[in-house]
Amino acid sequence: MKQHDVIGVGLGPFNLGLAALLDSVEGVDALFFDDKDSFVWHPGLMLPDAEIQVPFLADLVTLADPTSRYSFLNYLHGQGRLYRFYFREHFHVLRREFEAYCRWVSEQLSSVRFGHRVDAIRPTPDGWSVWARGVEYRAKHVVVGVGCLPSLPEFATGVTHSSGYLHVRDQALAAGSVAVIGSGQSAAEIFADVLEYGRGRLDWFTRSAGFLPMEYSKLGLEHFSPEYTAYFHALPEDKRDALRAGQDLLYKGMSAETSERIFDLLYTRSIDGEPDVRYSARCELRGVDGRHLSFHQLDQGIDFTHEADVTILATGYEPAPIPVPGHLLARDTAGRPVVELDYRLRLADGSPSTLFVQNGELHTHGVGAPDLGLGAHRNAVIVNALAGREVYAVRERNVFQSFGISAA
Ligand SMILES: Cc1cc2nc3c(=O)[nH]c(=O)nc-3n(C[C@H](O)[C@H](O)[C@H](O)COP(=O)(O)OP(=O)(O)OC[C@H]3O[C@@H](n4cnc5c(N)ncnc54)[C@H](O)[C@@H]3O)c2cc1C
Repeated sequence: MKQHDVIGVGLGPFNLGLAALLDSVEGVDALFFDDKDSFVWHPGLMLPDAEIQVPFLADLVTLADPTSRYSFLNYLHGQGRLYRFYFREHFHVLRREFEAYCRWVSEQLSSVRFGHRVDAIRPTPDGWSVWARGVEYRAKHVVVGVGCLPSLPEFATGVTHSSGYLHVRDQALAAGSVAVIGSGQSAAEIFADVLEYGRGRLDWFTRSAGFLPMEYSKLGLEHFSPEYTAYFHALPEDKRDALRAGQDLLYKGMSAETSERIFDLLYTRSIDGEPDVRYSARCELRGVDGRHLSFHQLDQGIDFTHEADVTILATGYEPAPIPVPGHLLARDTAGRPVVELDYRLRLADGSPSTLFVQNGELHTHGVGAPDLGLGAHRNAVIVNALAGREVYAVRERNVFQSFGISAA
């Protein structure tokens, strides 16, 4: 049976970036599978004017290879829209434009296969067998890029998660009362959308300390760098967990622009009287029974209830399970897969691993794991590992800040 050098499972932006960077690499035969029929990006939150939270340079390839034909600028050039983008002078691309760009890339790559769900990945003496649509494929290396799944409190199964907002948008805009839970970008976008286009009462609750903006200062953004990733990875597990517990606003808050838009909408609305809106922090959702929501105010220690016709839980995401038998992977004290600095998944038997993960290493590599800005770097590291040589330069020094003090 033919053995590919690498099979990629999942074609979100991260594995699509890998496929694009591998496209020009001699001697690496790659194949990528995705269960969707074409490239689709967060369809339930593709709000018309939503923007990506990183500059356009964080496309699939540029930060690893600015000469790549798969860059966002080359996409605009190909579409005859480069001058318009140039005059628009706006670094943050619309989410649907980023999706269109990714689809444009995917349609040019002969290594991608949409409509292929991978049901199993099994070790073989010289690599892996990957089963998709009942057919077995073989590869020396496998890169798992299956993304994340909506995370819902156990007591709230069946309630709409923010990832499915557009499927209930009409209902929410027409509803007499809507409640949004959570205070990240998704929650803020949905709250702003219902505030602007909805007609009923609107409530917003979060258990976090407040409705606070994501850290976006230039010095703060240096945490999304290869240096910080290496520094974080080298720390002991307990230090990593403690550090990340205090970094929510580095990657979970709302953008300052969305926060401003909300305040401006409220201010404008208040000219005609007090808006029928409430938002309250330190309120933890503890139960859902149809329209009845039970909360606990964490500082005052008070329980209270609230009723809403439509409730949207913007309660985040968790890594999708890696479709590999669990016993094969080495685990840390919390049962999470151990991921090496070069994104290999450590095997439980200690044998050399040819299994890589994309965006499943928040606990080992830190806040940059889900960030588009570090996708190209991660892929450059993986391409070099797959090719067994330096195809893309991976620099040690990229930012001004020094993370950690060298023992010497
Ligand atoms: C609404 C939203 C907006 C975001 N915006 C930004 C942003 O602006 N900037 C930023 O830096 N980050 C952003 N992120 C975070 C992150 O970059 C994205 O989640 C990104 O999509 C992650 O890419 P991925 O490749 O890991 O996975 P995904 O995009 O989740 O793609 C994984 C793919 O794998 C497929 N798949 C899963 N299992 C299988 C299987 N067994 N077989 C075959 N296919 C499979 C899935 O169907 C999916 O197509 C955003 C996240 C969300 C939820």
